[in-house]
Amino acid sequence: MSLTRKILIGMGLGIVVGLILNLALPGWYDAASTYVLVPLGKIFVNLIKMLVVPIVIVSLILGTAGISDPKKLSQIGGKTILFFLITTAIALILALGAGMLFQPGAGDFQLDGANFEEKEAPAVIETLVNIIPANPFGAMVQESMLQIIAFSIFIGYGLSRLGDKVSGVLRLIEQANEVLMYLVQAIMKFAPYGAFGLIAVAIGGQGMDAIMAMGKYMFAVLFVLLLHLVITYGSAISFLGKMNPIHFIKEFSPAMVVAFSTSSSSATLPISMKTAQNNLGVSKTVSSFVQPLGATINMDGTAIMQGVATIFIAQVYGVELGLGQLLTVILTATLASIGTAGVPGVGLIMLSMVLTSVGLPVEAIALVLGVDRLLDMCRTAVNITGDAACAVIIERGEESGASDSNEVTA
Ligand code: ASP
Repeated sequence: MSLTRKILIGMGLGIVVGLILNLALPGWYDAASTYVLVPLGKIFVNLIKMLVVPIVIVSLILGTAGISDPKKLSQIGGKTILFFLITTAIALILALGAGMLFQPGAGDFQLDGANFEEKEAPAVIETLVNIIPANPFGAMVQESMLQIIAFSIFIGYGLSRLGDKVSGVLRLIEQANEVLMYLVQAIMKFAPYGAFGLIAVAIGGQGMDAIMAMGKYMFAVLFVLLLHLVITYGSAISFLGKMNPIHFIKEFSPAMVVAFSTSSSSATLPISMKTAQNNLGVSKTVSSFVQPLGATINMDGTAIMQGVATIFIAQVYGVELGLGQLLTVILTATLASIGTAGVPGVGLIMLSMVLTSVGLPVEAIALVLGVDRLLDMCRTAVNITGDAACAVIIERGEESGASDSNEVTA
């Protein structure tokens, strides 16, 4: 039986157990989650998170060292960031449109008693300035992805310039990469159990009343997530990536189910890289460059939630957003995703930046908080799919560039 099927079975059983605990045996939920479900999920998430920082460092050093021409490096970087920005903007436009169409905030919503503790959102300019780490080991300890990425690119660049002189170091890093990739494969054997625990807790601890009340909002978010997946990525993959989108989704699905169960793009990174390399034919160089960057700065699914949530909250408070404010939402949501690592629930912190930018009350986040976990699972799967789509497209661009230059030389 394939691993994806096993994970799907784990998730299915998780849904059943979660529903039983929620609806039939609520008294058992605490004990079951404390002693069985949460530990299962946590062991799995910790196992893969354990590999994230080493894999990003090692694979990005190798990726950069493999590109001997600095011009090519900046070309790949430029194309990647352009793809990320354009798809995020499309995601937000779709989300704002759906928010206006479905009117999820029309109706009576209880505003009193809505409590949301505001967390500090990072300032965008500060994030940009801090990309270069003064202390790379500090960056690793704090898991500051952009800083880790910058440091690894510097090391890779140094290795590529020094060439044979440092071939021993390069070989060591190549072998470390092999060990880490082997471990990803080994850890994935535990994924069905981890997914079972994570899903059972997510469903078991969910307030069903909240789901009923927020049905329209949830539907609007899920609808746009699907639309973006099918239309935006589907057409990008077939026209720019020259790949059948169904084949793409099928082959990438093992990573999507892990993203769905962990709600974390960062934690899923080792698996999404390995899946893109093994199943989608993306080279190590492109995958190790595009996907870690994407896990940090490209979150289309999260942008979709923010777009719909902003319209929803504006409707609940009876505020009419003008064109200028809608553009502000697009700009702020796109910028907010830079520098916020893909971990569960971070989208809500970004949402507080977006709400502030258009003068909506941040406390209103409490309204969407109750159902956010389920949406987080779905949007994280979309987030990492966008990164993989970008990796496939960049890969195809590199391949056709290489074959063009071969033809010229021939
Ligand atoms: N959980 C999402 C991710 O890791 C971020 C979010 O939307 O909260 O990609």
